[in-house]
Amino acid sequence: MGLMKTDRLIRFDNSYSRLPERFFARLAPEPVAAPRLLHVNRAIADHLGVDADWLAGPEGVAFIAGNRVPDGADPIALAYAGHQFGHFVPQLGDGRAVLLGEVIGRDGERYDIQLKGSGRTPFSRSGDGRAAIGPILRELIVSEAVAALGVPTTRVLAAVATGQPVFRDSMLPGAVLARVARGHTRIGSFQYFAARRDTEALRILADYVIERQAIDTTGSVNRYVAMLDAAVLRTASLVADWQSIGFIHGVMNTDNMSLAGETIDYGPCAFMDSYHPGTVFSSIDQQGRYAYGNQPAIAHWNLAKLAEATLPLFAEEESEAVRRAQASIDAFPALFEAAYARRMTAKLGIRSARSGDMELLAEFLELMAADACDFTLAFRRLSLIRGEVGPDWDLGGMFRNREAFRAWFEKWRRRVTADEGCTEAERCGAMLAVNPAVIPRNHLVEEALADAEATGDVSRAVHLMDVLAAPFDEKHDNTEFALPPRAEQIVRATFCGT
Ligand code: AMP
Ligand code: MG
Repeated sequence: MGLMKTDRLIRFDNSYSRLPERFFARLAPEPVAAPRLLHVNRAIADHLGVDADWLAGPEGVAFIAGNRVPDGADPIALAYAGHQFGHFVPQLGDGRAVLLGEVIGRDGERYDIQLKGSGRTPFSRSGDGRAAIGPILRELIVSEAVAALGVPTTRVLAAVATGQPVFRDSMLPGAVLARVARGHTRIGSFQYFAARRDTEALRILADYVIERQAIDTTGSVNRYVAMLDAAVLRTASLVADWQSIGFIHGVMNTDNMSLAGETIDYGPCAFMDSYHPGTVFSSIDQQGRYAYGNQPAIAHWNLAKLAEATLPLFAEEESEAVRRAQASIDAFPALFEAAYARRMTAKLGIRSARSGDMELLAEFLELMAADACDFTLAFRRLSLIRGEVGPDWDLGGMFRNREAFRAWFEKWRRRVTADEGCTEAERCGAMLAVNPAVIPRNHLVEEALADAEATGDVSRAVHLMDVLAAPFDEKHDNTEFALPPRAEQIVRATFCGT
């Protein structure tokens, strides 16, 4: 009876598992002892046409836990390689995840449903194939917040506790999540076949990405160059989004960069509190390779690795292939700068950009860096300013060098009032719609994770998620969720938790 019901509830249509056998390993998720629901994302379930009540019930929980594979699913662990912190590893792959299959959403788009933390696979190496509840909840909270901020990201359909411990530095409760993505092809997926000199596979994978990501190849000298161009454009836009909200991915290895242009693989990620380009949270990033200010350059470097891997597809003649790849990759800095400038001028309340705007931004950021000002709060308070402001106003109080700040502020005010055809109320409204009141602040995330780890109770995490679902809502201003951490609350490192 249950199986029949499942049949009708999720309609899988698997395109990746129809690719050649060497692209993946076929295997079922490993069942767990005592699955228990942590969270169901009703909006995503509805979008995918999955009954949320069913998902929250015993059959749905068994499905997320990997204890029952629904009919129509074709579970596979994907093969990929990757540069980890600059070092090439020819075989990584899904070591603790299985792609169950794909479903068509209400928008007609195709979405992968992948279980993460679902047990060992042929790609597990020395890992246990499992995930602890903390990192699972971090991915849930942070990815949903990133989505609410309007940034492309994978989503979480649901998460369950396994009832089994995982062994890290200490013994922790295990958990599994179901991730929803517009694709799981990574830069490292191409590198996997490039390392094996398997040009046929590179071509098949590139054709898959072009079709799946609806990449327009018309007008391009070569369809695979069009794919690289699309990756360059999407990645430039994505990283500009990250910079504009102060998001630090933490592990921008090439295996964590998606061809779908989505934020993927939430590990030791974090939102920056006080502004500084050198900000790093990940405890595994000792050198600061993936610091906030390095993200654009690293994205560029990663795209160059994609170009190297797919080089044989660009032209018959190698010199021509190199020329085409280089031209595509060289476009990144300007594309990034343009995307970044659009977002940051909007954050400043500037409607039509002019020369000098980026200097105005740079000066604001410098003032913030000098006084370790909270990035999110500074932009939010700038958005809340209306009319004339007195000496003790909120934003000014954030800067020790009041004189320098006041000079910048007057310059800013002259600049925004020069934008014609825009009233103050309109400008404030536009700024409040791009400068969030609330972000998943590390101290709040850590508190929610610690609670769940200690007691299994996720109510704090769920409440935090409810707040983060409406990041621009003025009802959050001046609440504990909008405030930066007090000195004793500051989180200095986030752990990868693998
Ligand atoms: P990540 O840093 O989470 O992006 O993972 C990097 C690589 O390590 C991927 O190939 C993962 O599948 C693998 N991996 C991470 N954690 C585990 C684990 N607990 N067991 C097996 N493989 C893992
Ligand atoms: Mg990864």
